Amino acid sequence: MQIDILFCGVCHSDLHIVRNEWGGGTIYPCVPGHEIVGRVVKVGREARKFKEGDLAAVGCMVDSDRVCPNCRAGLEQFCDQGVTLAYNSEDKHTGGITYGGYSKSIVVDQDFVLRVPDKLDQAAAAPLLCAGITTYSPLRKWKVGRGQKVGVVGLGGLGHMALKFANAFGAEVTLFTTSPGKTADAKRLGAHNVVISKDEEAMKQHDKSFDFIIDTVSANHDLNAYLTLLKRDGALVLVGISPEEMRISAFNLVMPRRQMAGSLIGGIAETQEMLDFCAERGIACGIEMITIDKINEAYERMLKSDVKYRFVIDMASLL
Ligand code: NAP
Ligand code: ZN
Repeated sequence: MQIDILFCGVCHSDLHIVRNEWGGGTIYPCVPGHEIVGRVVKVGREARKFKEGDLAAVGCMVDSDRVCPNCRAGLEQFCDQGVTLAYNSEDKHTGGITYGGYSKSIVVDQDFVLRVPDKLDQAAAAPLLCAGITTYSPLRKWKVGRGQKVGVVGLGGLGHMALKFANAFGAEVTLFTTSPGKTADAKRLGAHNVVISKDEEAMKQHDKSFDFIIDTVSANHDLNAYLTLLKRDGALVLVGISPEEMRISAFNLVMPRRQMAGSLIGGIAETQEMLDFCAERGIACGIEMITIDKINEAYERMLKSDVKYRFVIDMASLL
């Protein structure tokens, strides 16, 4: 299907990849962008799911083998043949490299295109395709819900969606932030408590009390400070991908039997489930719209943790 792109979110992964921060894997020229909402303009002969004029969305993945155990389990992101990402990935059909959403148009197999419920604002829906599913999926996998004390580390694109989802699932939610100025926003976005992570005394008060903590931080930081906040069998799940390795103390895991894990976006079916959930519950991203010429400024602000809480590019600004 060919999709004319209306809006594309700006993920911190775009910045990591544009600046080649993840192990030298960037292939230039690179067209970033994996939070795409647009309108279908052409469909292939055998495409059935969409018709011309439909609203459609594309996230981080555009292809996979569909037959390996991971794809069959609805976890295309872990395809045994290697998932094809929206950009900076080998295109198995053309032999070239995929180009992402900072663009006028994209061609994607219908199996990797999502329906955008009418109730959702088109621009505010775009970041759901990565920031949304990346936080929704682990909260569901670890069965976060009522009666649980849940932490979110970092209030950026992913963090603000984690607050909204954890709150919607009924948990008692605490934000850990390095930015005291974000306290009021955090409460508006669904946090019941806010802890400034540099305040050691405030951190100590939550010792051994959390069931689950999702960590969205994009840079090196002290993981032991969060492990010690988990109670027995509690889990710390990383979704933030620091380019630098981070150290943990084995003692903080073995006592009292804590878990640590990671999570990568979410499968296609779960992404649709998340979009439908957002439409049903009136959940949307808090966005700041930019024109494409402001993208470098947006990256600089992102590095200063100055994002409220996701930049979205109005693609009409790309001539
Ligand atoms: P973002 O909007 O820039 O938010 C990151 C937040 O982390 C910042 O707002 C800040 O929050 C906190 N932070 C930044 N630097 C820090 C530091 N040195 N120490 C402590 N806290 C710091 O980024 P994002 O788009 O949400 O992405 C976050 C990370 O997730 C990135 O590494 C990205 O590549 C990764 N990611 C992973 C997946 C996945 O599938 N696993 C998907 C998408 C993105 P405060 O101001 O509140 O402290
Ligand atoms: Zn992303």
